[in-house]
Amino acid sequence: MDYLLDKPRANCAVVGIYGLEEAATLSYLSLYALQHRGQEATGIVSSDGENLRRHAGKGLVADVFKDRTTFNKLPGKLSIGHNRYSTTGSSTQDNVQPLLVQDHSGPIALAHNGNLTNYHQLRKFLEGEGSLFRTSADSEIILQLLARSHGKDLKSRLFDVIRMVKGAYSLVMMSRDVLVAVRDPRGFRPLCLGKKDDGWIVASESCAFDLLGAEYVRDVRPGEMLVIDENGCESLFFANGDSHAHCIFEFVYFSRPDSLIFGENVDRTRRKLGHVLAAKHHVPKADIVVSVPDSSNTSALGYAHEANINFELGLIRNHYVGRTFIEPEQQLRDFGVKLKFNVVKGVVKGKSIILVDDSIVRGTTLKKLVRLMRRAGAKEIHARISSPPITNPCYYGMDFPTREELVACSRSIEEIKNYIDADSLEYLTAEELLGATSKRVGQDFCTACFTGDYPIEITESEGVVKIES
Ligand code: SF4
Repeated sequence: MDYLLDKPRANCAVVGIYGLEEAATLSYLSLYALQHRGQEATGIVSSDGENLRRHAGKGLVADVFKDRTTFNKLPGKLSIGHNRYSTTGSSTQDNVQPLLVQDHSGPIALAHNGNLTNYHQLRKFLEGEGSLFRTSADSEIILQLLARSHGKDLKSRLFDVIRMVKGAYSLVMMSRDVLVAVRDPRGFRPLCLGKKDDGWIVASESCAFDLLGAEYVRDVRPGEMLVIDENGCESLFFANGDSHAHCIFEFVYFSRPDSLIFGENVDRTRRKLGHVLAAKHHVPKADIVVSVPDSSNTSALGYAHEANINFELGLIRNHYVGRTFIEPEQQLRDFGVKLKFNVVKGVVKGKSIILVDDSIVRGTTLKKLVRLMRRAGAKEIHARISSPPITNPCYYGMDFPTREELVACSRSIEEIKNYIDADSLEYLTAEELLGATSKRVGQDFCTACFTGDYPIEITESEGVVKIES
């Protein structure tokens, strides 16, 4: 039902557990906490030191693992897991991760969050060399390259592979007795390290640690490989990782507010986005602040606090709309969005409203929400967006619609305001967005979907992504 929210679709979550009893169950709990990063498919691989076993399927974590006896078939103290929303490759059963293969060194499993930007070139090269691919997922490239390496152990073979791949990758991999975590040199996607008793946990976001009662240790650093085995946790660097390109959209929308990513608390940063939005894009006479739930709640609270205007729950989101729902033909123009959101009439009637949303993609949902709020008696609706206009697609692991479908690609802010029928519309600028973080402004973040400034240069030709540098 993401299409009813009109948001970019979050990509994937990864998790790895080492040295803890019932590791598969701990992976399951972690994936449950990370469900927001991918709802299309999920899977877990575990090792008892001898064999690797896998259970995976299409659907939500709770559905794929609803048979509790599944965990009896996933024994061991080592496990990795994955939640998927496909960014490269179709949503077939074959593409469900973790991928599990048997190569000359034994069984290896892999889970990947990100997008390899030189996938097409590498696949063409490998197919030319005789490699047979089982999936259409870019992640399989890593396993295919690994199979060709003659390094003496998993660690040295991975070093060979990493020299060849480009783009965004937060990876967890496992053999029979080793857990490996790798983050690309730019650190596009988050990946953090936690500790529980004598065991280690790696996860896309720290909210997974809270559920397990584990302690956040630190981020896996850009350009770093962690090798976790019976000797402990070894840190190795394959790139200096000084030039970061953390995805700013993780703060705007994707990550959970209770997570710590890129060394910062998401709630605090998102709240600050609301503060800056109120300070720079104030509405002189307004009665209440309303958020588009749930992803805009935190920034709307920040806005309300800074503007000293009451935050009210004027929109209610239905959390129980399943992914299998098929939207009927458009006899009723607002049917889809009404299924997802309802207006609290008593809250909005007769009010001048500041409506805070985190982003606008196509603008279709916001347009319908404005219409529903007007019908419910809202006097004025002033839309305030806690990120800049999205004008470019993402090649680093997020699923955006095509450039032509992005409402800000071909329209001015004034034209978008008229399109959604708001009384006013203002966005954060890229500078204001970056200024709300405590990182080095202009040096630590990717902002390409807002600015077109791609950290790894991209050109598009006949639908194929090509890397120029
Ligand atoms: S293009 Fe946008 S969504 Fe993609 S990594 Fe950069 S900031 Fe994130």
